[in-house]
Amino acid sequence: MKPLIVKLGGSVITDKGKPFTVRRGVIKRLARELKGIKSPLIIVHGGGSFGHPLASRYKITGGYREKTQLIGVSLTHRAMEKLNSYLVEALQGEGIPAMAVQPSACLIASDGRIESMQLEPVRKMLALGLVPVLYGDVVFDAKKGVSIISGDQLVSYLARKLSVSRVVFGVDVDGVYTACPKKDNRAELLRVITPADVDLVSSLEKGDQGDVTGGMRAKVLELLELARLGIEAEIVNAAKPNVLREALQGKSGLGTVITGGK
Ligand code: ADP
Repeated sequence: MKPLIVKLGGSVITDKGKPFTVRRGVIKRLARELKGIKSPLIIVHGGGSFGHPLASRYKITGGYREKTQLIGVSLTHRAMEKLNSYLVEALQGEGIPAMAVQPSACLIASDGRIESMQLEPVRKMLALGLVPVLYGDVVFDAKKGVSIISGDQLVSYLARKLSVSRVVFGVDVDGVYTACPKKDNRAELLRVITPADVDLVSSLEKGDQGDVTGGMRAKVLELLELARLGIEAEIVNAAKPNVLREALQGKSGLGTVITGGK
């Protein structure tokens, strides 16, 4: 059976408004929803209020320039490890054999994009029935010294390199809208996005101040790359009970489908 990739957005598993705050109840519920999934799973999560504030404070996305950033590299990574540990323990609590995979220890980036990644351990984990849990991380970069690889970019890379059946992104809104639904009450939900909608996607918000990975626009651009290769993705509201589970069980149309077809 081909694996599914599920991305748990930082907006869902943390409170983006409060530094270093996990949404304990939501994580527990999501772990219960994931428990019922029969397909092999790869889980990737974002940084939310753990990764972004530190990465932003130490200007990690701009690359390595001075020694004072090194403590920032160390702290950003550790913050992501803490969030990851919390999630892995919640999954284990439901009996899911989850295991952390540290992106910074197995990939090299170049100018903020993944250049190479050692995927054999992930393949072996899947073959055994373990559930790899990866996350957006501060990584080593051939051009910039260090950079941030978002969970979104990891999903897109993994989906291209491993043969996956479907990609589901859980965020805290019902999908992709014509504008940020939290700021514009006239924003309309887009049910389907295809590569033909690239102009519309380019006009989406790059993320709030402090978001170091490009917000909804970067997310959709990553998924359009997959759509061009024939890998369909859906962005759904994981803050609503059972939506993520149903999407992973194959129900389509719960949020925004990003597909290559018409
Ligand atoms: P995550 O951290 O969960 O991966 P992001 O915070 O990067 O997700 O993106 C989700 C957030 O993007 C939503 O909480 C919403 O406030 C914001 N957003 C901005 N523009 C849009 C849009 N056009 N459609 C949907 N959400 C949007």
